[in-house]
Amino acid sequence: MSRIILVSNRLPVTVRRNRHGIQELASSSGGLVAGLNPLHENRDSIWIGHPGEDLDSATTATLLERRLVPVSVPVDDFRAYYNGYGNSALWPLFHYLMERCEFQPAHFAAYQRVNELFAQVVAQHVQPGDTVWIHDYQLMLLPQLVRERIKNVRIGFFLHTPFPSAEVFRVLPQREHVLRGIMGADLIGLHTFEYADHVRRSLRRFLGVESRERSAWIDGREVRIEAHPLGIDVKALREKAFSRSSELSLARYRRRLGDRQVILGVERLDYTKGVPLKLEAFRRLLASSPVWRENVVYIQICVPSREEIGSYRELKREVERMVGQINGLFGGPGRVPIHYVYRSIPPEELGALYRLADVAFVAPVRDGLNLIAKEYAACRDDGGGVLVLSEFAGASSEMGEALRVNPWNMEDTERALRRALEMDYGERNERMVPMHKRVLTNDVHRWIDRFMSALLNPRAVSEDNPPLLEPEVLANTMSNHFAEARSALLMLDYDGSLREFTDRYEDAAPTPEILNLLDAISSLPNVELYINSGRDRETLEKWFAGRRVSLIAEHGFWIRRKDESAWSRMGPQPNTAWKEEVRPVLQAYVDRTPGARVEEKSSGMVWHYREADEDLGAWQALELAAMLEGRLANAPVQVVTGACIVEIRQQELSKGRAYDFVRGEREDYDFTMVTGDDRTDEDAFERIKSGSYSVHVGTGSSRALTSVVSPAAMRKLLRLLTSARQRAHATANRGRNEGPSKPRRYPDQ
Ligand code: UDP
Repeated sequence: MSRIILVSNRLPVTVRRNRHGIQELASSSGGLVAGLNPLHENRDSIWIGHPGEDLDSATTATLLERRLVPVSVPVDDFRAYYNGYGNSALWPLFHYLMERCEFQPAHFAAYQRVNELFAQVVAQHVQPGDTVWIHDYQLMLLPQLVRERIKNVRIGFFLHTPFPSAEVFRVLPQREHVLRGIMGADLIGLHTFEYADHVRRSLRRFLGVESRERSAWIDGREVRIEAHPLGIDVKALREKAFSRSSELSLARYRRRLGDRQVILGVERLDYTKGVPLKLEAFRRLLASSPVWRENVVYIQICVPSREEIGSYRELKREVERMVGQINGLFGGPGRVPIHYVYRSIPPEELGALYRLADVAFVAPVRDGLNLIAKEYAACRDDGGGVLVLSEFAGASSEMGEALRVNPWNMEDTERALRRALEMDYGERNERMVPMHKRVLTNDVHRWIDRFMSALLNPRAVSEDNPPLLEPEVLANTMSNHFAEARSALLMLDYDGSLREFTDRYEDAAPTPEILNLLDAISSLPNVELYINSGRDRETLEKWFAGRRVSLIAEHGFWIRRKDESAWSRMGPQPNTAWKEEVRPVLQAYVDRTPGARVEEKSSGMVWHYREADEDLGAWQALELAAMLEGRLANAPVQVVTGACIVEIRQQELSKGRAYDFVRGEREDYDFTMVTGDDRTDEDAFERIKSGSYSVHVGTGSSRALTSVVSPAAMRKLLRLLTSARQRAHATANRGRNEGPSKPRRYPDQ
């Protein structure tokens, strides 16, 4: 296995001087460190980052023993790069807090210099075959800088914050520079599908870089842009949370708090975490419901963060003022409504609090993911506890059973808190159990494995968009081969390739022109013709009744060869239990998107929006796909977006698999052609080996070897090929019969 070079702004340990002036190591806190520690502990890796201060030689040696490589940065540059560009420009902008942004050219200059320093250290340590994995918003220029210095190394980049919508990203004065920086990577990972989509839109808008589904192409290279939500280190967390010391803490808390319900908040004290809004919602709850003044305690842990930045110090003052005010107003002798803690707390105690709290109150105004929500769910073996979760936290797309709130809507948040406190065990259990299971399954090891395997096992890549050719030109290159092949296989996609799309998907029946063409192809000697479609069996059967065409339905789920009367499944009976959960979700999106419709197939479901308003449909599709990806994380299905559709289909199904199946049935094909227009066809294009042809329909990028512009051009190509084979066989027959024969000739149109 290749060595991994992890690169992040901070090392997982921070070096500080104690009061005797001696350097000591302390663990760094935060989600990034928590996520990467398991990888560093278990794999052959080195970790490059800033150590916190200039090191003496003994400390450097200690770090190197732990495979930690410090990057030395001049103090002023570090301040301008970290507090300046990182935390006063990118951080607030990526969290949609534009009024907090400061864009100083000097800060960006320092950001460039520090990214250069990191690149030098990476270049010193990287060896052939290593993989470099760069993290977060402080190092967005680094992927490209590393690529310029080192060839033949795979580079991954992961952004742990949100990536904002293109309209917000647009504000960044160095937007093109930053985008080019991350495009140096082979794989860009984000926490949610929505953030990945924002990256793609910004690429198109600011660099003119086209992307298709998960891939974008720059300088002839493919860059994958994918959602990989971070998981937690379940084992490490639970070892601490269920340890003896945690049990003791839990018993102590229970004794002290008696029967009162507990609301728990844990966050770095950062303005993105929405602590003042949370306090305000809690104040309203106490003001409007005196019963809770006696019966609830709100424990708010604030972990000190970025105290050297003025706005963070102001926030601390504001929070402390509010806590004092609420406690003054609603407390009494021996009764304090808010227990406010301003320090980092040991993991055993945090685990005890997760197990204790009736309600976890996680209401950031924006958060890349939020691990606290996941850690809380992971510790609820009792199936109890209610998660109140902001819809602006990335984790909310995976935790649909939480009580979701818009933290800016204080009435809404107050209502959710009250509802959580009043919720009976049955409902708490119904909501918590699926989240608990999901978090335990999708842990940090799975995150690491998924990201690393996506980075290390890229699919076969064609260099760029396939050349767009006139059908006559393409026919010239193919027709001799096709005409003379002993045995040929044509596997044609239908919608968008052979037939133009229609507003209503059921209206796209084949025209007489298409039926004539298919008849002509299927009467060619030794040519096997397959329609390889995502459509259901019934539709294909109706449309191609009586024709000598083999049919593949539902992306390879069903097959009916031309001489057969019944359909057969290409794989085992799938598990479709997930449909029960998905049907009402799709229906809800139909209800709020005029013109949208649901199509149900035996193996999958499709949400269509071609007839809906274009922008609304696309918007709803994004949200729907993001939500389904989270909800169905553990179901054996994939969520695929295509031409005005969001499709949920069996994981193992693909047109590529169908291609393999058909190809595997006969060994003697010496001509193969596969056509298609959307990403479901890419799986088949990938299979195409030399000596075969893949033709993409449309102008976008594709792994196909060539493309034509439209279904009409595709039909023309097929007509020309058909005529060439007809001619070749007519000539051969004439030779054999010593006389003219009359083949069924396809009329050139
Ligand atoms: N955490 C910590 N010390 C504490 C409290 C919390 O290290 O005193 C951890 C917590 O367990 C979680 C992380 O800090 O793993 C917070 O991650 P999150 O994604 O919620 O926020 P971030 O700090 O990354 O913005």
